[in-house]
Amino acid sequence: MLEGLSQDYQLTIPAILKRADELYGEREIVTRRPDKTFHRYTYADFVSRTKKLTVALKGLGVESGDRVVTLAWNTYQHLEAYFGVPCSGGVVHTLNPRLHEDDLAYIVNHAEDKVMMVDEPLLPVFEKFRENSETIEHVIVFNYGDEPVPDGMISYEELLEGADENDFEYPEFDERQAAALCYTSGTTGRPKGALYSHRGVVLHSMMSAMGNAFSLSDNDVVLPVVPMFHVNAWGIPYTATLTGSKQVLPGQHLDPASLIEDYEQEKVTFTAGVPTVFLAMLQTLDQEPGKHDLSALHSMVIGGAAAPKGVIKAYKERHGIEVIHAWGMTEMDPIGSVAHVTPEIKALPEEEQLEYKAKQGYPTPFVEVRARGDEGFVPWDGETMGELEVRGPSIIKSYFNTEEGDDKFSEGGWFRTGDIVTIDKYGFIKITDRDKDLVKSGGEWISSVELENALMAHPAVAQAAVIAIPHEKWDERPLAVIVLKEGESVTADDLREHLESDFAKFWLPDAYEFVEEIPQTATGKFLKMKLREQFQDYTLA
Ligand code: AMP
Repeated sequence: MLEGLSQDYQLTIPAILKRADELYGEREIVTRRPDKTFHRYTYADFVSRTKKLTVALKGLGVESGDRVVTLAWNTYQHLEAYFGVPCSGGVVHTLNPRLHEDDLAYIVNHAEDKVMMVDEPLLPVFEKFRENSETIEHVIVFNYGDEPVPDGMISYEELLEGADENDFEYPEFDERQAAALCYTSGTTGRPKGALYSHRGVVLHSMMSAMGNAFSLSDNDVVLPVVPMFHVNAWGIPYTATLTGSKQVLPGQHLDPASLIEDYEQEKVTFTAGVPTVFLAMLQTLDQEPGKHDLSALHSMVIGGAAAPKGVIKAYKERHGIEVIHAWGMTEMDPIGSVAHVTPEIKALPEEEQLEYKAKQGYPTPFVEVRARGDEGFVPWDGETMGELEVRGPSIIKSYFNTEEGDDKFSEGGWFRTGDIVTIDKYGFIKITDRDKDLVKSGGEWISSVELENALMAHPAVAQAAVIAIPHEKWDERPLAVIVLKEGESVTADDLREHLESDFAKFWLPDAYEFVEEIPQTATGKFLKMKLREQFQDYTLA
């Protein structure tokens, strides 16, 4: 091989920070504080504080590869952690406060998190699993006012005050070093870690910023509604910092009224989140015609669950907002495809264009896709279904610290997504079904298997199967189908009470149906497909 003479410049998160440091100093970052007032500062402030955080973390003993976990909303402090932790050589691990405390403790222990950074309003969530977290040595509180932090915890503001920015040096890492860690609950079994490298994060940021994906530049004002604990807010904090966009971080205020106010006041051009949020917002906008000026907002990315065609159309027709449908997975960091309207599609009649906009989109650069059917890979004819497999530089090659899930990776390094799709001649993917036995409610996963096991532990229950029922507000909600033991009786309320203490509230089934039998395979597995058919017209109250 004749080796090329391009430099081996390492693609790292510190390199993104350095660019912001040198070029974007005057741009703004705006955050909604817990009390709803706005905190404003510039990229220059952000960089300066991030440098201090890096110095402080090293002072606390954070070394290369150490995990620093965050439990926080979308805020400037969280953004500082997104950069400061990887700059210290550590791995920034984001924790989803909506999970049950047993899962949170499991994840922290599995990740062996050394330092916890917790948002003041989320302290009660942390208290629920603090005692069961075995590896945490320091707890830092992202504090806002003058209230002292609880005993034994460190005030973030005091920590930064005590650090000298001049002690910061831009580190030179191998780009393959670990930078960020997210656990997915969208799998069977225990939550599993997706550990991204610096290189993976940087390349993901670049491909997300491109014109045929999110199309971001320094002219944009970016507001991620998707929480920074959901696959790094789809990478947007890194992408927007790379492009030098103004950033607006909504904190914990994700209700339509607050978001609409943010959009108007800050002249937001780009926003992204799950369908649930934007469905609620559509209702508010429809109820208040002409009241809001969202003319700056050119892109609303909806992903994490299917964006309904009617919603895409309604935003465009009634509010002039372009919905861009996107698909991805935690294992992909997460963006995999974006339904950007290509020149070929633009040439089609409106109604046909809408069909494409409602698909999950075509792959972002360097994401390769193929779909495997019963008889090998399916043709890209938009009709034949198969399980979607992907590979690319921001997709994980195995889960962190476990062999569980190894069967998800097929030969040649492809990752099996568990999504059943068609792919058409333009490479547009359409999800038709899901192989995973899970319910996705408002962007959060619910494991049907875990609910079934808990239900079957009830003395009156012989069999229980949980299936997803389409739901207007939450996309999907769980329905429990129950066969009782002979001579036993139990009510839906009894079963709900039985589950309540072990699961997060949003996991509890919306309804319980009592039946004579649940269809099964010859090997005694529930035939969920059949059951879904049986309940296809079921409506939840
Ligand atoms: P997560 O790892 O929690 O981000 O979940 C990834 C999974 O969510 C995918 O494998 C899909 O099953 C589902 N998903 C994500 N985006 C979409 C979308 N736009 N339409 C339908 N399902 C989606």
